[in-house]
Amino acid sequence: MFSISKIREGFNKTRNFLKEKLSQISFLGRELNESELKEIEEILILSDFGYDFTKQLISELKNNFKKTETENTLQEVLQNEIIKTLNQFESKSTATLKPKVILLIGVNGVGKTTTIAKLANIYKKENLKVIIGAADTFRVAANEQLNIWTSRLGIDIVQQKQGADPGAVAYDTVQSAIAKNYDIALIDTAGRLHTKNNLMDELSKIGRVIKKIISDAPHEIYLVIDASTGQNGIEQAKVFSKYLGLTGIIITKLDGTAKGGIVVNIVQQLKIPIKFIGVGESIDDLQEFDATAYTNAIFNQLEEVK
Ligand code: GDP
Repeated sequence: MFSISKIREGFNKTRNFLKEKLSQISFLGRELNESELKEIEEILILSDFGYDFTKQLISELKNNFKKTETENTLQEVLQNEIIKTLNQFESKSTATLKPKVILLIGVNGVGKTTTIAKLANIYKKENLKVIIGAADTFRVAANEQLNIWTSRLGIDIVQQKQGADPGAVAYDTVQSAIAKNYDIALIDTAGRLHTKNNLMDELSKIGRVIKKIISDAPHEIYLVIDASTGQNGIEQAKVFSKYLGLTGIIITKLDGTAKGGIVVNIVQQLKIPIKFIGVGESIDDLQEFDATAYTNAIFNQLEEVK
């Protein structure tokens, strides 16, 4: 399930950007001067690592660079700081629940529908029985898309006619999951942000309806964010997390951006763990998130940077 080379490939743009920029600064075990620190700051901001992380790293470099005079000092300090930041918020394990109910939320266009299919594919490969609930009942295209994926993957889906009550679809899905002994129920939801209050009401209602059947469900609420939307995506996430108890983030389209630092920025601002990352358009391009693998994937060809 876990493929380092896929992530490495997915981070090509980010790595190439950092590699090009950082290699212009040559460090030979000496103290960094102010203009070099400024330069590093700019590179990190441009890669979307965010202001807080950048400040933290610069202070770390100022304090520790002199002390550690190994070959890769800059890269090491950077990697350690990234891993430390990413591992701050451990997720709680819900491994034994059945059916495990997972709600996927996010603004239209972020890759939510594709991500549901990719997730279903991951669980299916683990020999788990998966059912999808198409509770975004307004978007015909999204539902058609889901139909194509599910029939291709041989995964069951609960759908109702266009405009049906999303709560009713969620209810049916969870009922079926119990009745037919499914392991995982993945529920797709609407993402029309222009009707923010209605959308939040609708999502809260879906949550309440599910709770009527299983009181501690949904067990996971994953917010899907498009990596290329930067701070905008983070602002959207803040709105969602105000209304719903998010348990994890899925970041899509990391393959299409040079701003892979967004992963760090999101964790630091939202204080929620990243669960999966999307690194391409095909069905296998979703990876379970691992902080060390992520860090290796962005830096593993930077050895020449001193
Ligand atoms: P939704 O509106 O949020 O349901 O978005 P869709 O699932 O329809 O996806 C929108 C577009 O993003 C589609 O063209 C997908 O193929 C593409 N997409 C989704 N995830 C990824 C990803 O990780 N990488 C890339 N490059 N494209 C993605």
